[in-house]
Amino acid sequence: KGVFFMNYEFKDGLEFAKEMDRLDKLGYLRERFYLNENEIYMDGNSLGLSSKDSEEALLDVFNVWKKEGIKIWGTREGYFFNLSRNIAKKLKSLINADENEIIVMGSITSNIHQALATFYKPTKERYKILVDELNFPTDIYATKSIIELKGLNVDDVLVKVKSNDSRTIREEDIIEKMDDDVALILLPSVLYRSAQLLDMKLITKKAHDRGIIIGWDLAHSIGAIPHDFKKIEPDFAVWCSYKYLSAGPGATAGMYINKRHFNKSAGLKGWFGSKDESQFLMSHDFDQDTDANGCLLGSHNMFSMAPIDGVLNIFSEATIENIRSKSLHITAYLMYLIDNKLAKYGYVVGNPREDHKRGGHVSLEHDEAYRISLALRDNNVIPDYREPNVIRLAPTALYNTYEDVYNLVEILEKIVKENEFENYSLDRVTVL
Ligand SMILES: *Cc1c(COP(=O)(O)O)cnc(C)c1O
Repeated sequence: KGVFFMNYEFKDGLEFAKEMDRLDKLGYLRERFYLNENEIYMDGNSLGLSSKDSEEALLDVFNVWKKEGIKIWGTREGYFFNLSRNIAKKLKSLINADENEIIVMGSITSNIHQALATFYKPTKERYKILVDELNFPTDIYATKSIIELKGLNVDDVLVKVKSNDSRTIREEDIIEKMDDDVALILLPSVLYRSAQLLDMKLITKKAHDRGIIIGWDLAHSIGAIPHDFKKIEPDFAVWCSYKYLSAGPGATAGMYINKRHFNKSAGLKGWFGSKDESQFLMSHDFDQDTDANGCLLGSHNMFSMAPIDGVLNIFSEATIENIRSKSLHITAYLMYLIDNKLAKYGYVVGNPREDHKRGGHVSLEHDEAYRISLALRDNNVIPDYREPNVIRLAPTALYNTYEDVYNLVEILEKIVKENEFENYSLDRVTVL
């Protein structure tokens, strides 16, 4: 008999971890990814690992180009010319949206620029933009730049919801800030440091009740958490493809535009946003496509998109529901081991504990987090560190094992118990 931890039953010891791996119905998918032997990869929330499926899709595009030259656009009935649309068909089940509400382009940063250029229409009465003080810097930079482009003053326009514990943002504090002068809200689904998952449905509804446009940054939830956009009905969303989606460094990002906005003029315009039939007429009058594709800009980044196309086959096979359920279970197991074996060494779980309030990583805090993260690397563990005291650990559903988690905890224990971290300097080196 094990002990109950949250809603789960766990036991200490390597045997239990091995038993969990035997029962894991997604376990067979690990084979499809490239893992280094004897390395424990815990950074799938920052940069997911490569897969055979991505590799094949990438080489395929290259080979078609090699053979066909310009004719690549027409091969396979225009599959590559329509690559954004074709990838959207595979992405839609991750967020429960229609395929023509999704486009694949750019980066999160550039897609926020596109979204704000399209949706932010300040008036005298309504001009504020609501964000949170814990959000990722680039989201804030992009927001400040649209404010400047409109000739407005950042201090007058940008409202930041404060955190009361420097880890999380309370939903009620966000809702309280939704005044009549707020035009637009941009928030992360999951906070990148603490892994807090916000109640997107509630917040979106409250925003809409007050006539406010709302967009979500899914950087830390796409591919880890299913979203039901048919129920949530946000106005827009953006995400990257290199974190849980595992499509490679700088892989092309994505964007969702709710169909009730298909009539909006794209804030930033480009020829890939034209209707198919007018794109090659070369007119100087932009004939915007009638769905989310109207927000596309230039030629598809084929080599940064093919790996998404490939890896999404693994997601379809696994299903996002199974991915979430393993992710919740394996991260709960990690928290259980931390509480029981590591608390006495000063380690603290910094993420919310309830399943509906947490994302795909465990936010492990320690006063010596920086030096511990360096020692982890020398112990063949790949974590990631975020200032000032957080080690993010993401045992991902598709390629991590319970045995990885068990061994990780043994190593975390050894590093502090044997003062291994003291061999490292406190001077920050740029890493990553
Ligand atoms: C990772 C991340 C980004 C990265 O933006 P890119 O433009 O894709 O480099 C942006 N926002 C959040 C919240 C992130 O977690």
